[in-house]
Amino acid sequence: MRAFVFNGQPSRVVFGVGALDQLGAEIERLGARRALVLSTPEQQGSAEEVSARLGARSAGVYAKAVMHVPIETAEAARAVARELQADCCVAIGGGSTIGLGKAIALTSELPILAIPTTFAGSEMTPIYGITAQGQKKTGRDARVLPKTVVYDPNLLRTLPAKIAGPSGMNAIAHCVEALYAQDANPITSLMAEEGIRTLAASLPKVVSEPNNLDAKGDALYGAWLAGACLGMVGMALHHKLCHTLGGSFNLPHAETHTIVLPHATQYNREAAPEAMRCVARAVGNDDPAGALYDLAKAVGAPLALKDIGMPREGLERAAQLATENPYFNPRPVQYEGILALLTSAWRGERPSAAAQRSAA
Ligand code: NAD
Repeated sequence: MRAFVFNGQPSRVVFGVGALDQLGAEIERLGARRALVLSTPEQQGSAEEVSARLGARSAGVYAKAVMHVPIETAEAARAVARELQADCCVAIGGGSTIGLGKAIALTSELPILAIPTTFAGSEMTPIYGITAQGQKKTGRDARVLPKTVVYDPNLLRTLPAKIAGPSGMNAIAHCVEALYAQDANPITSLMAEEGIRTLAASLPKVVSEPNNLDAKGDALYGAWLAGACLGMVGMALHHKLCHTLGGSFNLPHAETHTIVLPHATQYNREAAPEAMRCVARAVGNDDPAGALYDLAKAVGAPLALKDIGMPREGLERAAQLATENPYFNPRPVQYEGILALLTSAWRGERPSAAAQRSAA
């Protein structure tokens, strides 16, 4: 066996239908007395419910989280946390809300208790992102890793299918890239393959049977594994492309991941044979890129960059930006190949070696 380093991330996970009932005990375990509850405006109702559950241990609700953590939002939330003398953040929501909790923790060291309601996986990572002057800067810091994560499939009852599908594909993307990461190791690879298997099997049911809590629980479990992989090993071409497209063209996060993933998988297919065998096993199909495209289609997610606001004339710039700084990827990242990948993804073609060649 190849030598490896395993960089485990210390967090406590409480998982199960009804797990939110343990919130009080978990807050007590953290030693917190004044928790600031965070959410987006859309999920303010859930945040109020959480605050009510906390009773005297709630310092208040701040329901102004938005996508990509603008610095102004981060600073306003930090000021509220100080004014209310909060000693903990409870973040209920997706990556945007948990990201706001991380921005607070970064400067205050307040512990975070995360209650994820999407499949994005931010709750399991020490990665934060803050957007200033139109640029999102990300970093790693142990202080922002949530201390406790409460996964309760009940909270996914309200998750609309059009958010659930892309969010689950976003989670699968963490797993696929973990399998060919430069610092991949046998443990994260086990988690990644299991994450893909669980998500690929459950997502179609999550979107077509909104009351199927078993499917939502399975997908949440897969998302946990995916987030853990994202937190433990480095990502490659796919995440770099999505970061570039999201940051420079303001494309929606989970949808961008959904569209790019099959094409990035196809691009790396020959260069990462062992990883591709794992993906193929997990999706039950020996064409991993095609199977991921079919899965995105089955969950009703968008399939073409042109349908989510990417201008045709931006593809060259995106390819340039994505190839500017060398970074690890199993296959060398070269302008022509990346432009072909992006063109194929822009058109929404089912990926194949031929499609990427003809787009070139
Ligand atoms: P999101 O948090 O922006 O949520 C999308 C929308 O869905 C919001 O309006 C939210 O309120 C709503 N929503 C979420 N759960 C719901 C539920 N159960 N019921 C009803 N509505 C619900 O989307 P996201 O995809 O989870 O997060 C995206 C952000 O997270 C991006 O900024 C991305 O960069 C970041 N992210 C960070 C990491 C990390 O490790 N730092 C990992 C993944 C994603």
